[in-house]
Amino acid sequence: MTESHEAVVVGGGPAGLTAGIYLMRAGIDAILVEQGVVGGTPMKYEHVENYPGFPDGIASRELMDRMTSQAKRFGLVIKDFCQVSGMGLRGGRFVIQAGEDTVESLGVIVAAGTQSVKIDIPGEAEFMGRGVSNCATCDGMFFRNMDVAVIGGGDAAIQEGLTLANLARKVYVVHRRDALRAQKIIQDRAFTNPKMEFLWNKVPLEIKGKEQVESIKLRDTKTGQTSEIKVEGIFVYVGSRPNTTFLGDLAETDQAGFLLTDENLMTKTAGLYVAGDARRKSLRQISTAVGDGALAAVSLERYILETR
Ligand code: NAP
Repeated sequence: MTESHEAVVVGGGPAGLTAGIYLMRAGIDAILVEQGVVGGTPMKYEHVENYPGFPDGIASRELMDRMTSQAKRFGLVIKDFCQVSGMGLRGGRFVIQAGEDTVESLGVIVAAGTQSVKIDIPGEAEFMGRGVSNCATCDGMFFRNMDVAVIGGGDAAIQEGLTLANLARKVYVVHRRDALRAQKIIQDRAFTNPKMEFLWNKVPLEIKGKEQVESIKLRDTKTGQTSEIKVEGIFVYVGSRPNTTFLGDLAETDQAGFLLTDENLMTKTAGLYVAGDARRKSLRQISTAVGDGALAAVSLERYILETR
């Protein structure tokens, strides 16, 4: 089936939903296409406490449900579990392969976010879902009163390590340096949490087990010595890479694949905008994704009014 709209938003996280709200309120005929469940990266986290307007914080899923309801209230059609696999230009219009369908549009906002980077060591793929996970909020409950390891020292690793500490017996934080990258307020909580133990200057070498994860082998980056700790769960949070391969050469990227835009969030292709974590930027938060979504939508609205 081929359908035609003025705008297509690719990705249903905070950036995409905000773009959808703004486009619909501007009277633009837009649809949003999401490859999985609507809500984006925050759905992998338990709680948000730095998004303004919620003095006591808010459950991540509730915040995303609220954004989704708001977008739907303004009439945004959301196609979930629909993956965009390719995009091109024909006669000045975008032609987007979305699931089994082809969607044509005057403009596109790519808010496709990121996916977890792998550590790429023996056992990681083999034990995925059998002790290895990228989502403490989803899988943490399976590790109640067990020992687990979190790999990484960024916001995701430390925040999710704290989530795990509510359930697990012990949470080892395996970090390749001797200082964390995470925000200070999160670090302070982790350092004072009696269940968290920091293994500094360590990189993972191998995940071992029979049916399930039983241990992880580590190498000390300073001494070269190896060690092994017994854990039943391993949560990998070593960063993310953008979901942008479907764009081909429509947009330029930096070396890590993040999309380059001008100050109005347009790529090198007129009518193609980027919002949220897939864009090259210095801060990836729900608040910055929401700001991107609004700016990309208003920029696209102006473009559509000129080209309609
Ligand atoms: P990140 O900030 O890029 O941190 C990745 C961590 O993994 C770093 O500590 C890094 O070490 C380590 N690492 C990278 N490659 C590694 C490897 N091969 N082996 C071992 N360790 C490795 O990624 P993130 O924590 O997933 O966060 C992604 C973005 O989302 C960030 O912008 C973050 O601020 C944002 N976020 C925010 C919140 C929040 O505000 N509450 C929550 C989650 C995520 P080095 O430090 O040595 O580089």
